[in-house]
Amino acid sequence: MLIAGNWKMNLKYEDIINFKDIIFDFKLDNRVEMAIFPQFPLLYFAKKNLSDHNIKIGAQACSAHLKGAYTGDVSVEIISDIGCKYCLVGHSERREFHNETNDFVKKASTLLLTKNIVPIICVGESLEIRNKKVTNQFIKNQIRECVPDKISSNLIIAYEPLWAIGTGIIPNYEEIFNIHNVILNELSYIENLKVIYGGSVNNENCSKIFELKTVHGALIGGSSLKFKDFLAIYKSAVKQII
Ligand code: PEP
Repeated sequence: MLIAGNWKMNLKYEDIINFKDIIFDFKLDNRVEMAIFPQFPLLYFAKKNLSDHNIKIGAQACSAHLKGAYTGDVSVEIISDIGCKYCLVGHSERREFHNETNDFVKKASTLLLTKNIVPIICVGESLEIRNKKVTNQFIKNQIRECVPDKISSNLIIAYEPLWAIGTGIIPNYEEIFNIHNVILNELSYIENLKVIYGGSVNNENCSKIFELKTVHGALIGGSSLKFKDFLAIYKSAVKQII
């Protein structure tokens, strides 16, 4: 399982130190990985401070180009040099505010794989798509257009319904189970594929989500900023394995 905290454009250097202090006596279980995704300038500091505690670090986005005249963008080369294990690609906020298309996601993910960084490709339907009852087809299309060709391992899909992100509302558990199942079937040729759920995961709903056999972890926004809640969610994932 993977418990991943997407800090988005929140938290600062001092919060990494606070997190390190809190994590000091916290025992991680080697069957459940913990990863955090801070803003770019914090990545190196996070890696230096947290890797001894076995916490993995990931970037929130990357360029689809390796280098060149792309002011403001960040290359996978640097993300790799820092020692990031993961990178989010095509998060809905990147799709909405930075025009990340499925084509972009595929290119960026392909580049990440060349640097041995595991892409976490975010997919998810809008409320409009859901109301039309065409979610499964929409997700299948997103997967087909976003997943790199010839990939055989090292991929995570984050299923994040757009209407569940930051709203406090989640799909019913059966829906989550079924959509994850669709994704697993669609990508059954990928070894060790993980499908994690994201969208308003919190301390109260997490245990029911982790009980679902098609869920391999969670991508957590708001609740990852409250470290006690984040650790409680992590503990709930561990309990599910035992
Ligand atoms: C996210 O943006 O990836 C996310 C899951 O946010 P939240 O947990 O706040 O809904």
